Amino acid sequence: MNELLLSKRLLTVANEIPIGSKIADIGSDHAYLPCYAVLNGIVSSAIAGEVNEGPFQSAQKQVNKLNLQGYIDVRKGNGLEVINPEDVNVITIAGMGGQLICEILEEGKDKLTKVNRLILQPNVAASNVRKWLIENDWELINEQILEEDGKIYEVLTAERGIPDNPYRDVQKKAAAILLGPFLMKTNNAAFKKKWSLELSNWKKILKQLEQATVTEELVTKRKEIEENIRMVEEVFKQ
Ligand code: SAM
Repeated sequence: MNELLLSKRLLTVANEIPIGSKIADIGSDHAYLPCYAVLNGIVSSAIAGEVNEGPFQSAQKQVNKLNLQGYIDVRKGNGLEVINPEDVNVITIAGMGGQLICEILEEGKDKLTKVNRLILQPNVAASNVRKWLIENDWELINEQILEEDGKIYEVLTAERGIPDNPYRDVQKKAAAILLGPFLMKTNNAAFKKKWSLELSNWKKILKQLEQATVTEELVTKRKEIEENIRMVEEVFKQ
């Protein structure tokens, strides 16, 4: 992978950026995504944000190597603190856990005033991201799921809107938050694989819990897993 040949995962994110956007890629590491977006004329300039010194240096190196210093501003800082709200209308955050993505968005809420699209690629816990979007008046407008090198990734695109819209015609909102309201309709091979693996993992955990001492916490955990299993199996039946 490099700035010209993105991974399938990052290409899926890049394809969600409207042409002419002003983007900030938060947690940019090598800055592959902003470099690709500039080199392919998707955006005319971009901000690459990084909190850690090593990835910040890698991003700078990459931008310098491609002579893109005039187009990509590599900034060191935590989450959205690197942006000025006036300068950005699309934010991409990829390759992190869903919980960290939520924390970055929550802590940087005041930086989102001019942002009209979020493109988020949580490696795990996408349901946390869906919950954050609902609670903060963002409407999911697209979701994609793909497999690359044996791993399954979800890409969530949201715009300011009516958060309930994608959940209107689903039978059970909790299931749609877990699985993704768009993804459960698509029900493609990557989706089936992800949730079949989760199902067998949950069933294994339930077996292990049978041996454990019964506590209130264990009972809650067991109920939660059983409910998840029920929701996924129901969607698989449809
Ligand atoms: N976005 C790239 C991708 O998808 O390939 C890099 C993903 S990498 C696994 C996650 C990056 O996020 C790391 O470089 C890490 O330093 C950075 N990161 C983690 N927390 C961050 C935060 N609060 N603010 C900015 N960057 C952060």
